[in-house]
Formats: sequence, structure tokens, C-alpha cells
Amino acid sequence: MTSWLEIPEGTDFPIQNLPYGVAEHRGRTGVVVAIGDQVVDLAALAAAGTFPDVPPGTFDRDSLDRFMALGRPVWRSVRSRLTDLLATGNDPRRRRQVEAALIPMDDVTMRRPIQVGDYVDFFSSIHHATNVGRLFRPDAEPLLPNWRHLPVGYHGRSGTIVVDGTPIGRPSGQRLDPTTGRPTFGPTDALDFELEVGFVTGTGNVAGRPIPVDEAERHIFGLVLVNDWSARDLQAWESRPLGPFLGKSFATTISPWIVPLDALAPFRVPAPPQDPEPLPHLRPRQRLALDIRLEVEIVPAGAAAGTVVTRTGFADMYWTMDQQLAHATSNGATVRPGDLFASGTVSGPTPDSLGCLLELTEAGRRPLRLADGTERRYLHDGDTVVMRGWCGRGSSRIGFGSCRGTVVASSSRT
Ligand code: MN
Repeated sequence: MTSWLEIPEGTDFPIQNLPYGVAEHRGRTGVVVAIGDQVVDLAALAAAGTFPDVPPGTFDRDSLDRFMALGRPVWRSVRSRLTDLLATGNDPRRRRQVEAALIPMDDVTMRRPIQVGDYVDFFSSIHHATNVGRLFRPDAEPLLPNWRHLPVGYHGRSGTIVVDGTPIGRPSGQRLDPTTGRPTFGPTDALDFELEVGFVTGTGNVAGRPIPVDEAERHIFGLVLVNDWSARDLQAWESRPLGPFLGKSFATTISPWIVPLDALAPFRVPAPPQDPEPLPHLRPRQRLALDIRLEVEIVPAGAAAGTVVTRTGFADMYWTMDQQLAHATSNGATVRPGDLFASGTVSGPTPDSLGCLLELTEAGRRPLRLADGTERRYLHDGDTVVMRGWCGRGSSRIGFGSCRGTVVASSSRT
């Protein structure tokens, strides 16, 4: 399928994608869909009567939460209506209706597309969990006994989830000084990124009613890229015996576009087998993964070019999104529209496919050399971390846009 709009070659946003975001344009903020290098203002289309099953005011607001709460039948009807309007061969009168709602992407400012009531971060890559286990517990079995039985996770801080492009202030905190054996307080010396993919829930559940693993997808609206920024020195000192706290809560960046699960359907692949088989509530009839390619680039301040430091894929995550959502509600806890569930660091089996500097540099022991000749154990002030993700290739490629953040010194926080 093609669009009558001119779509730039190699775009993340062909007609097959149609991801949702929230954009500000001339002082107005509302829900938009990306196509090529433009956005479609859904509030303008809705005002023209395009979406009969969407209540007034759904798109004329600063988050997608109200739309996501309407459920999959409405998401599908809006997506199919947009596809009709944008596809080659449509009625020229409708084309004029769309043209009135188009805005060049360069003219809008993307905002955080969801409010994020609750945020969970999992730990679902077996390569990442094994590598981190080896680094932190060199003399023990790298995977703890629970790891293959449930998708390990923790509740994170939703209030500090920021959108692509937001500067990241270097956090301060307590860390152990290995020479004195005492803690000190100051800016982290071990600021890291974590390459992750997150899913956003649309419709929630009723308290006390877990979401069955085979129904989980009904609740998933779409996916975003996630950078779970981490201060490793703070994390190492604070997180025994409980989990991550201030080493993670200072900032988490998401990409501005939520790619609908329906757009990702052609890229489903079988998930890797699990051994041992999980308990029945985490055992779906079919275990499917998504074949998303991922990469991370570090661009130092003032550098002419960045360096891609990792290339990996989402398809071999040990725990799938369905299992994660079933697990997260198996005690009766509720999820709500706009909750974010991040995958945990996505690492592959090879040294060039690891999803964070902790693994890439073996906890700082083996620095990476960047294209400009400088070395990195962890991130420097001025470094920009750019994450990208896409499915397919050639004319079938759809992408997530970018998930960027520049590290700024604690004193120059904006
Ligand atoms: Mn993480």
C-alpha cells in the first residue's frame, strides 16, 4: 500500500506505521499521527466528523490516555479510517480534508504522549541478566533461582519519565568510596544508558481480576523506545537488599511516537523456548516476540560524527510482553491507560550487541573507543545518547523515531 502524500525514502513513518504522539504547534497541544515528514492533527480531523465513534475532546488534549482507554475496536476503527484517508486512490474531497490537518514535523514540538500513572521496569533479557549477574556476583550462579520462573521487575518513578530530547542532568547521590570503605555524596561517576523497549497499556483491568496471559494483548496499545538512564555507583551502593531506587529514578526517556501493536503485527516471530516451562498462569497458547532491530549511538559534545556502540534485537527476549503483563496483574493489581512497562536492558549474545555501558565496558574495566578517538567507561557531560528502533527493511520498514538525551553537568541543569 502507498500514500498519495510524498513520503521520503527510508522514513520511519510510511503509511503502514501511523504512530501516535502528542505535539505542540502554535500554542495548541493535541494528538497527532506521523506520516513521512508530516503530522496529521487528529483533533482537526475529528472536528470535521472523521471519527464517528470517538467522543468529542478525545484528541484535543495533551495526552493519549483518553483515546487509549477507548479500547482496541476504537483504535482499529481510527487506524483504518486514517489508512483510507491517506492511501493512494482515495476520494479527492477527503484528500482536501486531510491536507487541512497536515503540519510539517519540523514545525511541531513533540511532548510526552502519555501521563504514565505507573511505570514498571523488567529484567527480561537472559543475556543482560546473566552478564550483570557475573559482574555483580562473580563467584555465584549468574541467574538467581527465580529468574526463569517469573519476569523479574520493579516499580519505577513515573513522574520523571521525559520525552525524546529532554536534557538529562547528571544526578548526585551516595556511593561507596572503595579506598576508604565509606560513602560520599556527589555527582555520579558512572552514568549509563539502558536500551529498552516499552509497552503502553490502553484499557486496564478491575482490581482483583488478573489479566490472563492469553488476553494480555487486548490491553496493549503500542510500543515506545525507552532509555532507562542509570547511575551505576549509586545503584550498587543503595540497592541491597531492595531494588533500584535513586540510581534510576532521576530520569527515564521515551521516544515521542507510540507505534501501535497493530502496525507491528507483520513482524511477529516465535519467541525463544523457555526452560523450564513456566507455571500455567505464565504459559500462553502461543509465545510470540517482535522482530525489532535496535541501536545506540553516542555523540560527544561538538563531535562531527557519533559512534554506534551497540546493535541488537528485541526478538530473543526471554519473557514476552504478554507474560510480563499477566505477571504484573497476577496478584490482582490494576493497570490503567497510559501505564508504561519497560522490557529491561535489551542485550544480545555477542559483545557488540549489549544494551548498556556496564556490559559493554565490563563495569568500566574495558573502555570503549569512540570515532573521535576519545574513550568511554561511562557517559561524559555533553554526550548525547541516541536510540533507534525499526522493523523490516526496504519498503516494508517501519520505525520508532529517535529516543535522545544529552547529559548535562549537575550545575547546568535546565
Ligand atoms: Mn532498566
